[in-house]
Amino acid sequence: METIFSKIIEGSIPCNKVFENERILAFYDIEPAAPVHVLIIPKKPIPSMNEVAPEDLPLIGEMHSVAQQIAKELGIAETGYRLINNCGPDSGQAVQHLHYHLVGGAKLGALIG
Ligand code: IMP
Repeated sequence: METIFSKIIEGSIPCNKVFENERILAFYDIEPAAPVHVLIIPKKPIPSMNEVAPEDLPLIGEMHSVAQQIAKELGIAETGYRLINNCGPDSGQAVQHLHYHLVGGAKLGALIG
């Protein structure tokens, strides 16, 4: 299924890139919810967390590793951040292409806990 993120991956829609390799792309969210708000997406078109298959687990692990690296590079590793995945209607998932939101750079309001 074509999404705004598949168009960003193929390059027909621009993005403000933070990281890219053969499997993963990270770019700034167009409507930031915090001073640092980066989206980390796989190039493989997985619609949501519900469709992650056992063979995708190394990719998911690598996405976490990329998040850790970006947090360090953007100076929020020590102050703290959230890595958020929205899955399905109740979460508010708007783009049907798996993604993590890396948000930080300010004291974040309590969502849980
Ligand atoms: P979701 O609600 O978890 O699906 O998050 C989708 C995110 O994609 C939202 O935070 C949007 O602001 C972001 N977004 C949508 N279109 C673009 C774009 O073209 N560039 C960067 N971020 C986008």
